[in-house]
Amino acid sequence: MHRTFISCFVLLIGFAMTTANAQSAHQPFGHIQTVKPYVALTFDDGPDDKNVIKLLELFKQEGVKATFYVLGKNVKKFPQITKRMAAEGHEVGNHSNTHANLPKCESVEKVREEIVTNQTIITDTIGITPVTFRAPYLAHDEKVWTILDELKLPSINASKYTSDWDKNKDAAYILEKATENIKAGDVILMHSWRDETLQVMPEMIKRIKAAGLEMVTVKTLLESAKK
Ligand SMILES: [Zn+2]
Repeated sequence: MHRTFISCFVLLIGFAMTTANAQSAHQPFGHIQTVKPYVALTFDDGPDDKNVIKLLELFKQEGVKATFYVLGKNVKKFPQITKRMAAEGHEVGNHSNTHANLPKCESVEKVREEIVTNQTIITDTIGITPVTFRAPYLAHDEKVWTILDELKLPSINASKYTSDWDKNKDAAYILEKATENIKAGDVILMHSWRDETLQVMPEMIKRIKAAGLEMVTVKTLLESAKK
């Protein structure tokens, strides 16, 4: 009786640990623990030939590095702009080929196609293979994790959600959500197509600098993470 109880207990602990490990291995990054005064500005869904160019000009003036989570279909439309992102020291990350809702894809092969096709398009365009991924709609399932594990790609969500995809959120809201209580290790999620995001970017950069923080790529932020 006693032995049975102990075996069950050991089994239970074993199960709990396995579950915990499985979860920790399959979590997108949010806030990234770092000893450096780094934060990451991230922009999804590009490139385009309008706002992205203005962002690149501003970042050059301000000495800011950012991460662009681009779509393969847009990289094909604007290869020169994608090259410029990389040439100016920004990170070009993978945001899938067509912005599919990956958990809704019917097979792991479809998910592989979305993610691998974009890895290939970006690599062929800029000569650098992306080292981070952001899931469209931040939607993950086992199929997505299977492919990300194969490619050894960490998935990056965020710790600051501006909701700038929502037309009902105005410029002041976006600025406030991005910068309130900002601290080292924060990852700010934005969209390069949103005009109000571009509009508040000079003030956002000013506030982040005033907080003593430096804007770096997600890759740099991850490399500085506490081990
Ligand atoms: Zn997106």
